[in-house]
Amino acid sequence: MLQLEQKTAVITGASSGIGRSMALAFAREGARVVVNYNNSVARAETVVSEIRSNGGHAVAIQANVGHPDQVENLIRTTQAEFGKIDIWVNNAGADILTGSGAKLSDEEKLHQLIEIDLKGTIACCWALVPVMQGQGRGVIINMSWDLAIHGFHGRNPQMFAAVKAGVLGFSRSFASTYGPVIRVNILAPGWIHTSFTEEMMDRKYYEARISEIPLGRFGTPEDVAEAAVFLASDASSYMTGEMIKINGGLS
Ligand code: NAP
Repeated sequence: MLQLEQKTAVITGASSGIGRSMALAFAREGARVVVNYNNSVARAETVVSEIRSNGGHAVAIQANVGHPDQVENLIRTTQAEFGKIDIWVNNAGADILTGSGAKLSDEEKLHQLIEIDLKGTIACCWALVPVMQGQGRGVIINMSWDLAIHGFHGRNPQMFAAVKAGVLGFSRSFASTYGPVIRVNILAPGWIHTSFTEEMMDRKYYEARISEIPLGRFGTPEDVAEAAVFLASDASSYMTGEMIKINGGLS
């Protein structure tokens, strides 16, 4: 049985990495998917094409989640396209580790993380309240980080932990405010194979991290996407405000 049949799902930042894998997994489970992106239109269109070539339904919609007016527009465009929003994943995240993001000052990195990961998540959740209350139900998934709880050395991890712990704290209070109509749960990935691990991580550092992981490997975007399918589906209907770590048993 398909777990998300007849559902409409919006995934922010679905043009690459974990968001892309979620879009593919949700479509496989029968959802009609909105592939949100900010800059990477070609990548987003490729995800949509992959879904359609497998017989699924998807559209790409541009919106910068750091701008509440663009979030409102993303919601309105989704409603016009699919009529409702059953599931929303706040996956979009600032890239402070690769490309131009890696060259930003610490202050600029922190600003980006706060604007996109934290304020973007809050803006989307608040904008969804009247929508999901009007529908009588809705499911939200927010993205945290396993090491936000336990800590990890370095300046980038300090900033990432501050923001992702903020996402966790916000989500739990949101869950307690808007249940039973809106369920919100949190995914906390650990070390996941992404462009950062492929482009930037040196071999010795990579192997040192693997030696600490009980399951002996980095996670994949697909590992995170399968947990997202569970949290989006009725299989998790008695869960809200809960965080699931997908980290191979690390922390
Ligand atoms: P990624 O490959 O860098 O993808 C980030 C996505 O976010 C892209 O699709 C990007 O779209 C989008 N995005 C960035 N800024 C945006 C904005 N202002 N508005 C809308 N979309 C925006 O990232 P990832 O590694 O898959 O991570 C996905 C999520 O998991 C993030 O929240 C991240 O913090 C979290 N996470 C990842 C890991 C990990 O190891 N990878 C660990 C813990 C948590 P455009 O390219 O179109 O701008």
